[in-house]
Amino acid sequence: MKVLKFGGTSVANPENINKVKSILKSQKNHSMAVVVSAFGGVTDLLLNASKRASEQDVSYKNFVKEIEDRHIAAIRELIPVKSQSAALSKVKSDLNVLETLLEGAFLIGELTPKLSDKIVSYGELFSSFIISEFLKSEGLDAIFKDSRQLIITDNNFGKATVDFKLTNANCENFFSKNKHGIALLPGFVASSKNGDLTTLGRGGSDYTAAIIAAATNADILEIWTDVSGMYTANPKLVKQAKCVASISYQEAMELSHFGAKVLYPPTIQPVLGKAIPIAIKNTFDPENPGTLISQNNNGNGKTVRGISHVGNISLLSLEGPGMIGIPGISKRFFETLSVKNISIVLITQASSEHSICVGIADDDADLAAEAVNETFEYEIASKRIKPVMVEKDLTIVALVGDNMKSHQGLSGKMFSTLGKNNVNIRAIAQGASERNISAVIKKEDVKKALNSLHETFFEENIKQLNLFVMGVGNVGAKFLEQIRQQKKYLKEELKLNVRVIGISNSKKMVFDENGISLKDWKNALDQGVRTEMEGFFEKVRSLNFRNSIFVDNTASADVSKSYANYLKNSISVVTCNKIASSSDFANYKALKQLAKEYNAPYLFETNVGAGLPIIDTLKHLIASGDKVRKIQAVLSGSLNFVFNTFNDSITFHDVVKQAQDQGYTEPDPTIDLSGVDVMRKILILARESGHQLEIDDIENDAFLPEESLETNSNEAFFESLKKYESDFQKMYKQAKDADCKLKYVAQFEDGKAKVGLQQIPKGHDFYNLEGSDNIVLFYTDRYVEQPLIIKGAGAGADVTASGIFADVVRIGNF
Ligand code: ADP
Ligand code: ASP
Ligand code: MG
Repeated sequence: MKVLKFGGTSVANPENINKVKSILKSQKNHSMAVVVSAFGGVTDLLLNASKRASEQDVSYKNFVKEIEDRHIAAIRELIPVKSQSAALSKVKSDLNVLETLLEGAFLIGELTPKLSDKIVSYGELFSSFIISEFLKSEGLDAIFKDSRQLIITDNNFGKATVDFKLTNANCENFFSKNKHGIALLPGFVASSKNGDLTTLGRGGSDYTAAIIAAATNADILEIWTDVSGMYTANPKLVKQAKCVASISYQEAMELSHFGAKVLYPPTIQPVLGKAIPIAIKNTFDPENPGTLISQNNNGNGKTVRGISHVGNISLLSLEGPGMIGIPGISKRFFETLSVKNISIVLITQASSEHSICVGIADDDADLAAEAVNETFEYEIASKRIKPVMVEKDLTIVALVGDNMKSHQGLSGKMFSTLGKNNVNIRAIAQGASERNISAVIKKEDVKKALNSLHETFFEENIKQLNLFVMGVGNVGAKFLEQIRQQKKYLKEELKLNVRVIGISNSKKMVFDENGISLKDWKNALDQGVRTEMEGFFEKVRSLNFRNSIFVDNTASADVSKSYANYLKNSISVVTCNKIASSSDFANYKALKQLAKEYNAPYLFETNVGAGLPIIDTLKHLIASGDKVRKIQAVLSGSLNFVFNTFNDSITFHDVVKQAQDQGYTEPDPTIDLSGVDVMRKILILARESGHQLEIDDIENDAFLPEESLETNSNEAFFESLKKYESDFQKMYKQAKDADCKLKYVAQFEDGKAKVGLQQIPKGHDFYNLEGSDNIVLFYTDRYVEQPLIIKGAGAGADVTASGIFADVVRIGNF
């Protein structure tokens, strides 16, 4: 015989029930016990109706109406007209009883567990009756059998304990005589020895099926549900989760205990002893092999088989000096919880004798705390033990696998993954079987925790990077285009899945949790909402994605002030904006410190030399123990362009204008022309070399007239350049007469930095610097005579964008 169980979604409506029928029809030469759940959602409706009624809230009637409508509609759709009226009158009369029960709860203003079970049982009683009538009408050889006559339990309403002796005898008796191909039974419901209706706990229809399978020595137990098997994690929360083809009873039990709702935890126990395999199958994809749970299934050496989570957990901790060395404290603690029938989901490893800490369901927390405080009343009054501490709204995430015990380092990997993603761990437990490692975390971190653990343990090292891009002008737009072009390569070659989740310019911002299409981002942004800096940050923070990176492509001081907030939330920052790194040393240092503390890189390679790997090279020199003695550099792509283009046949004004038009200058060109931009760059290089320097410490030998520097609009600035044209021509002529070229040079030596225009003679490294190129010479302990030279395009949107891109990839490899 075969036992099949169809869950709530599988029988949620006539369309799905027809799918069930097809599945049953396709099972050749098998006698079957078919267990069904209530129509999807009906159990919740019944429980809500009971609660409202007992609170004397008449709105419970709305739920009853919905329940009535759904079942009546199902009968009308599934059962042929000629036999409809009998079915309708049976269900209607049951509905009347249900209403009377609820009215009782309403009038008394109370709901006993016994009454609650009676009410909630109607979900399965209705569904099994309607489905059996439907199957008969479709010509299947089906008979309805009430599970209450087979499954006998104690009186623990809500989650009764099965008396296997009586139950097995009943099942053997019935099934040995049954001549029909299909016996259709309601799941979840049972009865006590003295004939009261009981239920087996939420999700208990799985258990009903397992009890019958074990009692009848079935060949297989098939759990038909709405997913194609047991997955490496809940597929509704982890998109990349994969079906586990086969798994051991113990692993399945552990996964379900820790929240893999696809199987009700007690289900495995009855079939395990008889080695009856369980198949988890999808009603909506019946050909899919799903998952096979069986004995000795060691997963081909795989260590972690799945990740699961249980929500609504509270941690209960008892501690105090009076616990040390006193025997019996734990015993009294656990006994108290046991007497109150509170089940313990997890016991954490105590680091000292000083405390006991357990995880229990949120719903039990108040009762548990009260009971424990009462047990230790005397010790608490004499201050030897503190009143019990309760922390609610937590979640347990667990790694599960039979082979985990023989592998070192798994918990390290687990906790470092969580740590890197800023998931705060409240408590840790490892089952004595070493088949699971669990961590208690905050509810809001669950999705991030599951996804990052899944990435670490199951995704062949594909790492997802989630980008939030602010500023989509020249550089930002190029950056997005480069990501679009490289997406496939990054995934295949570098194992990086780069997604852009948020984009903003100064007017609009847009977010898409599944990633914004980079072909169409302009459109998406047009349809976005008004930009608010704080709102942007809040959104990034609340999305709480793993490996989040904030990318600043603006030149805004306000944006640069937000970095600390991002870093404090373990969100990395990549920026081409120099303001933060060249602000007060204290601020620069604080950002670097936050990056370290929160495991979130703060990278700004493009602050100096656009895409040239200058800062990265410097970091490598320092990390390998080298010391920078002197830096000489031409660091302004715009000034280099200006002085390379300027001569006696063109005006200085026109050259600067051209530089601006070609995107070589900052939006405000005085930042470049005054030398401030170069000061910021040499400052950053000096700081990255390990020196504490402020911008005011840098000597600036300005070449622009005061008047030009003091203008307060771009127009006024350009006007003033015209006025001083003859001075600029004089500078040019002097250099030319000396056979030199004008270069704006930055220098750092002996802890001092200076910038200024210099005449560079032929033969000098700087002399032949073309267009907007940059050059840096590092003189260090290792590069004494011949400096380490980095030279190349140092300005322009394309190269800057690729520098930002390189920083993002660096974080990917971090
Ligand atoms: P049914 O009504 O058929 O009993 P349930 O809702 O009780 O179905 O269980 C199926 C659900 O279990 C899936 O839809 C899925 O969201 C959830 N689930 C949680 N963890 C897992 C997992 N590891 N693998 C598969 N499903 C899981
Ligand atoms: N209908 C019950 C519930 O929703 C039992 C089940 O479906 O397994 O909990
Ligand atoms: Mg279920």
